[in-house]
Amino acid sequence: MREQPVGRPVTGIRPVQYWDGTPVPFITGWSREHIPPQPLVARRGWRGTTGLGFQDETSHVDRHYDALWPRMSAARGGRPDFVTVHALRQRQAMSRFLCQVCGGPTLGTRRPDERTLFLAGSAAGRPLTDGERTASPPLHAVCARLAVEHCPPLGKGWVAALVSHTPVWGVSGLLYDPHTLHSLPTADPTGMHHVPFTDELRLRWVLAMRLVVTLVDVTPVTDLAALADEEVAVGRGTPDSRGWRADKPATGTAPARS
Ligand SMILES: [Zn+2]
Repeated sequence: MREQPVGRPVTGIRPVQYWDGTPVPFITGWSREHIPPQPLVARRGWRGTTGLGFQDETSHVDRHYDALWPRMSAARGGRPDFVTVHALRQRQAMSRFLCQVCGGPTLGTRRPDERTLFLAGSAAGRPLTDGERTASPPLHAVCARLAVEHCPPLGKGWVAALVSHTPVWGVSGLLYDPHTLHSLPTADPTGMHHVPFTDELRLRWVLAMRLVVTLVDVTPVTDLAALADEEVAVGRGTPDSRGWRADKPATGTAPARS
């Protein structure tokens, strides 16, 4: 395993982890990051209602956004599993506006434009739209270019957009029957149920695997190269093509949502 920079050094953009010559996104799961046995129980919560829980639950650790999250190690090692998203790093990236590829903060890297970039695979080229929900965290334009180059699904087609606001919508995860504590089936291709925070009943019985946000004020982007140049210019404190200049290195201090 080795680390390589994704281009010229830019504040906010971190070295991307590589494995066997392939960049591994920050949110990708690794073989050493297993989920230990964690028997689920029906547990009375602090609101006096019953819901899914761990027998030895530590609520401030195991619960976020009022939902139960799995306990899992977070130490990237072994082999990357490119089809697996690490639930806790996904939540961390989404809630703190961290880049899903390099893990660095995305806010502030394109000042004075505080919008964040989102990328999605789309073989048909269907653009991201206002009000659309996503569990795919934001990313830097430099890192988006790297992803488009190396990620096979994105090779079939992708769409990108700059987004002004990303209010949290809910979680995706495994939903459990309150009586049998067996996981409930779903026809969704992700294998997960999508539960909005307004659905208090189902929120009590879900084991959350993804934090989902809504994309608000969406502007489609087609030229990732131009955006990447802006990031580099801002990081260096030099004017970009539009004359913007960073008066100090962008720090990307993102407000934590949890
Ligand atoms: Zn990045």
